[in-house]
Amino acid sequence: MRNLLRPVLSPIAVLALATVFARAQQPPSAPIVLHAARLLQVDTGNLLQPGEILVEGERIKAVGTVVDHPQDAKLIELGDTTLLPGLIDAHVHLFLHPGAEDLQTVEESVPWRTILAEQAAKADLLAGFTAERDMGTEGAGSADTAVRDAINQGLILGPRLRISGNAIDILGGHEDANRFNPAQHVLSNADYANTADQLIQVIREQHKEGASFVKIYETGPDRMIDGVLRTPYQYTEAQLAAAVEEAHRLGTVVAVHAMGEPGTLYAAQAGVASIDHATQLSDETMRLMKEKHIPAVPTFTIFDYFAHNSTSATEAGSEGALLDYKIAEFKKQIAAGIPFAVGSDVGPFPHGTQARELTLMVRYGMKPLSVLQADMIEGARLLGWAGQIGELKPGYYADVVAVPGNPLDDISVCERVSFVMKNGEVVRQ
Ligand SMILES: [Zn+2]
Repeated sequence: MRNLLRPVLSPIAVLALATVFARAQQPPSAPIVLHAARLLQVDTGNLLQPGEILVEGERIKAVGTVVDHPQDAKLIELGDTTLLPGLIDAHVHLFLHPGAEDLQTVEESVPWRTILAEQAAKADLLAGFTAERDMGTEGAGSADTAVRDAINQGLILGPRLRISGNAIDILGGHEDANRFNPAQHVLSNADYANTADQLIQVIREQHKEGASFVKIYETGPDRMIDGVLRTPYQYTEAQLAAAVEEAHRLGTVVAVHAMGEPGTLYAAQAGVASIDHATQLSDETMRLMKEKHIPAVPTFTIFDYFAHNSTSATEAGSEGALLDYKIAEFKKQIAAGIPFAVGSDVGPFPHGTQARELTLMVRYGMKPLSVLQADMIEGARLLGWAGQIGELKPGYYADVVAVPGNPLDDISVCERVSFVMKNGEVVRQ
């Protein structure tokens, strides 16, 4: 993998690449003024009518009902739309596509999966997602380093990315190849770590290969049996705390897949950055999440997808029961006042369709403005870009989308993004 990332190039290839880089790094074009019927200030819920943004280079220079229109500025008229900060998805899998998950990671080569990941990144960006956290390549190792770096260098289109490489799992754990013929030695979709020392070693290895954070499976396999959620924990609180400490030493954080107790409690005690799926949270877990400001990332879209796209009636029944249980628990979590971020778990369902997550969070009990704040402000914080993205303010990166109508009246307009700007560049109009 490392050799793949540092190829030896022929002089011709170097010349060709130099041309691409020159294009990617050409001096910023003329200032741009965006004008639309509305602009939402996400922190306050204040709606400017009309709304204008002056963009210079990669950053927002001014925001208001009227902004300066410099002489050389290009005006982009967006009509009856609402300007919003770019959407953020805190839980994606660029290296997964619809179809049997286990089989695609076994049958498809890493180079092929990397090409599909490039397409996925483009589809997500064009749907309005200007920043994402990739929660594991599921067996493609650190191939996501190449995708992130190619996006950052302007070679391919995609969101700003935080990446984890493979997730980390125990032997026989959630993502191990448990159902295959043992004699075939099918590899796990994650990196093994069975002790605190092994967690530290794997974190160092992934960091060396370019990972920007650590993804750990803390529960699994997760099942609903006779109306009871069973979520065996994988690491003790002490083991998770060792992983968090090592991540902090490297200037980064740990995020966990954790469906329920006691793994969710161990994760909160250890001080992880987010608890993803978070279907079942005890009162003590929620108290700690509030105290330490650890957001839950519910990922309703994937549960909804499995509940409605099952291969058998039995599976549909148990997936449906799980979704119903999750919705009831979510209402308790909202009432408890824990922080939320927005993540869809896109990959098993088509890339570019995941704004449905915002719609589902409103349908199941949150107010539209709270969901937008969770997505943009909490999302920016979780991805380590607080004060840089997630709001339309002077000095922030110019990541801007336009949606038809008013998202405070109908959140589903976020599923129909009509304009996308990332880093001051128009990528969809
Ligand atoms: Zn996931």
